[in-house]
Amino acid sequence: MHKDVETLLEVQALEQRLKELDSEINSLPRRLAAIEAQIATQKSALESAQAAQAASQAERRKLESQIQDLKAKVEKSRSHSSEVKNNQEYKALLDEIAFGEAEVAKSEERLLQLMEDGEVRAAAVKEAEQALAAAQAAIAGEKRAIEERAAADRAERQRVAEQRAGRRATVAEDTLRRYDRVARLRGQAVAVLDQNACGCCRVRLRPQFLQEILTPSDRVFFCESCGRLLYAATAAAEPEVAPVAGAAQLA
Ligand SMILES: [Zn+2]
Repeated sequence: MHKDVETLLEVQALEQRLKELDSEINSLPRRLAAIEAQIATQKSALESAQAAQAASQAERRKLESQIQDLKAKVEKSRSHSSEVKNNQEYKALLDEIAFGEAEVAKSEERLLQLMEDGEVRAAAVKEAEQALAAAQAAIAGEKRAIEERAAADRAERQRVAEQRAGRRATVAEDTLRRYDRVARLRGQAVAVLDQNACGCCRVRLRPQFLQEILTPSDRVFFCESCGRLLYAATAAAEPEVAPVAGAAQLA
């Protein structure tokens, strides 16, 4: 295999790795945003629970003050009982007292309900607080991991880009130009010979062309159909990295 083809295979693998790194680096802000959204959901759940608790407490305070007023009114009616002049007035007063006491009883019953409700609301607030704290703790770790990942990716990206530039600098200019053109057009620019066809476009080679490729020489071959650099994999020339695989093995 021509040395340039061997080098461009490496370049191709490095470029594949760069693509993977870029796609991962680009996905990180989205992942962070998803995490922030989770926290926002937990926060708003806590706020709802707190609002419900506050409403319940406000109703309770209002009712307590109403009960006080009602009791004062009943007390006042009772204190008037010595001033009544006849049976009719006395009966009216008793009715008033009975009515007031019934109102107090009814309100006190509602107050009991509100007290129970208050316990439920308080438990709901506590639960939401705990859920938020747990989410925040989990997310702090996740966020740190994402940030570390981003830093590692950027560092690797720099290394790989430098390595790629270094390898490209050793390739003959016209071969490199052709490689770039095909890579832009087809993504992968180096293809391995697969039996008697191009490993990428699958078009069969002319027998004479096939013979040329299989004969040891120092020429660079291009697929006559797709234009990719074409090489025959031999035991000795088999690259360590498969043309399209890439990244993981490289790193
Ligand atoms: Zn081809």
